[in-house]
Amino acid sequence: MFQNEMEKESHIPSVTLYSEAVLPTCDGEFKVHVFHNDLDDKEHLALTAGDLNGARGVLVRVHSECFTGESLGSLRCDCRDQLHESMQMISKAGRGLIIYLRQEGRGIGLGNKVKAYALQDTGADTIEANHQLGFHADERNYAVAVSILKFFDVKSLLLITNNPEKIKDLKEHGIEIIQRVPIEVKPNKYSRDYLKTKRDRAGHMLDHLDLGDGTVHLVDIPCDSCPPLEDEHSDPSIQKT
Ligand SMILES: [Zn+2]
Repeated sequence: MFQNEMEKESHIPSVTLYSEAVLPTCDGEFKVHVFHNDLDDKEHLALTAGDLNGARGVLVRVHSECFTGESLGSLRCDCRDQLHESMQMISKAGRGLIIYLRQEGRGIGLGNKVKAYALQDTGADTIEANHQLGFHADERNYAVAVSILKFFDVKSLLLITNNPEKIKDLKEHGIEIIQRVPIEVKPNKYSRDYLKTKRDRAGHMLDHLDLGDGTVHLVDIPCDSCPPLEDEHSDPSIQKT
């Protein structure tokens, strides 16, 4: 084994399933699983649909918590829409996994995220704001997600993301990603500049941002048990309640 592979392996935390239950949601019925781990004292979550054990070509979203967007309905980012789009995609496919990591504000925490918002209100972009606060542009760590993928024995992924760094990080941990499933949601006047920064400075694959239509590309899902997504599913104008 190469040295860097050994290092990556050694940093994969051990996770323990703490609790689980059926969770009906407005986006479909899931099972929610709460994990404890030996890396941090946070309770990371997974939402699952269908049988994942040993499965290949599983639709997976590795999602980082956004309290302002998901609980308060902030329009400054696309997190909430991405989460619900992903839940709908998985619900429709009948099988999949959302790993919900408790790393608010790209890993800088809620208080610092709000500080970063204040800096953005005086002209900094989201990356400059992080730097001014002494953080990297993105402090997220996907090691717990790797452990959770291994827990469910998911063999290969159709990863719902626009973020090339997330793909790279998971692949470096030995996770097989068959295909990326794009997830572009409709920008608004508050989120457009933030999304442009993510595209232009962080390399996020947001091909439709300038069109402003939030088109979600449909992909053929290469597994028997996941039927192709239907057209109406891609319509970002469908309001979620
Ligand atoms: Zn957000």
